[in-house]
Amino acid sequence: MTQQHIETLSIHAGQHPDPVTGAVMTPIYQTSTYVQSGVAEHKGFEYSRTDNPTRSALQECLAALENGKHGLAFASGMAAIDMVLRLVKAGEHVLAGNDVYGGTFRLLDKVFKGYGVEHSFVEMTDLDQVKKSLRPNTRLVVLETPTNPRLKVFDIAAISKIVHGHNAQTQVVVDNTFATPYLQRPLDLGADMVIHSTTKYLGGHSDVIGGAVITSDAATYERLKFLQNAVGAVPGPMDCFLILRGIKTLAVRMDRHADNALAVAQFLSDHPKVKEVIYPGLSDHPQYEIAKKQMRNGGGMISFLLHGTVDDAKRLAAKTKLFALAESLGGVE
Ligand SMILES: *Cc1c(COP(=O)(O)O)cnc(C)c1O
Repeated sequence: MTQQHIETLSIHAGQHPDPVTGAVMTPIYQTSTYVQSGVAEHKGFEYSRTDNPTRSALQECLAALENGKHGLAFASGMAAIDMVLRLVKAGEHVLAGNDVYGGTFRLLDKVFKGYGVEHSFVEMTDLDQVKKSLRPNTRLVVLETPTNPRLKVFDIAAISKIVHGHNAQTQVVVDNTFATPYLQRPLDLGADMVIHSTTKYLGGHSDVIGGAVITSDAATYERLKFLQNAVGAVPGPMDCFLILRGIKTLAVRMDRHADNALAVAQFLSDHPKVKEVIYPGLSDHPQYEIAKKQMRNGGGMISFLLHGTVDDAKRLAAKTKLFALAESLGGVE
């Protein structure tokens, strides 16, 4: 078959009618274990920490969306990031973008540092700084783009080239939660691993917590698959079903999110009380050209600064009607 578009993959990849009943939707295989016809004779499923058919469907779907060979689903975005950081040994170094998700910072600074993993942060819009910050023992380079909350856009292809030129063993990891594979596919741009909080746009309905790692590198996959079973931070089948269900409408949701975000960003840009609007889809965004090159559209997230005080900003955040004052993003509401 010819290469399917992401709109098609998001509905069909990894999902086949149930061979027993013909059920069109992937069943929620709510089971911990699987009967064996003889000792160690089974149909590929032994125990649901190791493998579960609903999770397998989600993992295959996620891999296809990112144009990767392998996908692994985890109980949360943080569990996915934790698994990737477990690839780093004591005495090795992680270089991260200076605007990473707070939970990623906490994991590096309050957990892995205690295990002897070094880390440092760099402004990744400055490619010279990226080059200078790489160390002989740098094992991973971790970045998000667009970042939260400054919505900085980093050039994934250029950074990957610099990192791999420095050391072919150093791997580039992109947290693609904000963009989703519908807007940007980091593996196609040279990254080695993609991370998601599937809690956000992939799930899309604020009803599930989940995470994922996607890679095309066989050795990396083998190690992460081993860790997934060894550590056990796996999502349950109901959660996998909900994420699969959310993904079916990813393309239409992301297009609408971007249309709405651009309209809101333009409205705010013209507002006398607004000092600055940060949105990668506006031509005055500092990395607009990079965004145009690597993203399908500007996405659904906007940051803006008011003229006035912190209290003014707090008052505005508390007074919006349709926008819930809450953590998280990517839900239809
Ligand atoms: C939410 C988020 C995470 C963490 O994911 P959880 O599912 O909340 O554990 C990681 N990275 C980014 C960019 C996020 O927005």
